[in-house]
Amino acid sequence: MMKRLAAVVLGLVLACTAGKAAFAADTLADVKKKGVLVAGVKDSLPPFGYVDEKSREIVGYDVDIVKAIAKKLGVRVELKPVTSASRMPQLMEGNIDIIAATMTKNPERAKQIGFSHTYFATGQKFITKKGSVRSLKDLAGKKIGTAKGSTSEQNVKKAIPTATVLSFDDYPQAFLALQQGKVAAVTTDEAILAGILAKAPNKAKFEIPNVQISDEPYGLGMRKDDVKFIAFVNKTLLEMEKSGEARRIFEKWFGPSTAFHLKRNFKFKAD
Ligand code: GLU
Repeated sequence: MMKRLAAVVLGLVLACTAGKAAFAADTLADVKKKGVLVAGVKDSLPPFGYVDEKSREIVGYDVDIVKAIAKKLGVRVELKPVTSASRMPQLMEGNIDIIAATMTKNPERAKQIGFSHTYFATGQKFITKKGSVRSLKDLAGKKIGTAKGSTSEQNVKKAIPTATVLSFDDYPQAFLALQQGKVAAVTTDEAILAGILAKAPNKAKFEIPNVQISDEPYGLGMRKDDVKFIAFVNKTLLEMEKSGEARRIFEKWFGPSTAFHLKRNFKFKAD
C-alpha cells in the first residue's frame, strides 16, 4: 500500500516537473537571473564553431551570433560543445539555453523545439576526389560519409537510395574516412564542406562538385513554447540586420579576406 502510494506521489511529481519544462520555460528571465547564456555550439567546424589555435577558445560565426544576443541581454556566454545528434536532447534536458550549431530549421525538428528567424543559408553538397563525380549518378551504389543526427544523413538517403550511408559523430571524422579511401564522398552543407577543405593539408586532391541536393536554412534552436525568449532573439536578429552588425559578423567569417569568399545571399528578416 505504502509502496503504491509512494509510486503515485512520485508519478505526480514527475508529471509536474515534465509539465513545467514543457509549458513554463521562461529562459529569458532565467538567463537574466543567472547572468549567463549557455549556448550549444560546434567545436570542430570552421568557420561556424572551432577551437582557435592561439586562444584555445571556441570561436566562429555561430559563436559571434550568440555573443551578440548575450550582449543585448547583458549576460556572459558559456559555450558547450554539441554534436549534430546531441544538440536537441541537450536543449530539451535544460543543459543549454540555445543551440547555435549549424542547425537547419525544418518542420520535423520544429515539432520538438522552437527556431529563430534564419541566420545563415546554405545547401547540401559533397566533397569527392577530384574528377570522380559530375552528377548524382556517379555516387550510385557508393559509400558516403556524413554525421549522425543531421539533415545531411536523411537527405542523402533519399537522394541516392542505392548508396550506403556511413554516419560518424562529426564531419571531420567523415572526411578522415574519405582521405583513407573508406568512403567515396562526404556530404553535408556546402559552407561546412568548404571549411573542412580549406583546412585540409591535401586539399588539392579533393573538390566540391556542383551537385546540390537541398536547401539548408540555419536557425537558432530554443525550447518549444519558450515564447518570450524566442521573441527576444528574433527581435535582436532584426536589430543586428538594421545596425549592420549581421553583415559585419558575416564578412568577418566569410568575407574576401578569409578562405571562404561567400557572397551574403540572405538577410535576417521575419520568416
Ligand atoms: N545543417 C544540417 C543539420 O542541421 C547539417 C549540419 C549539421 O549536422 O550540423 O543537420
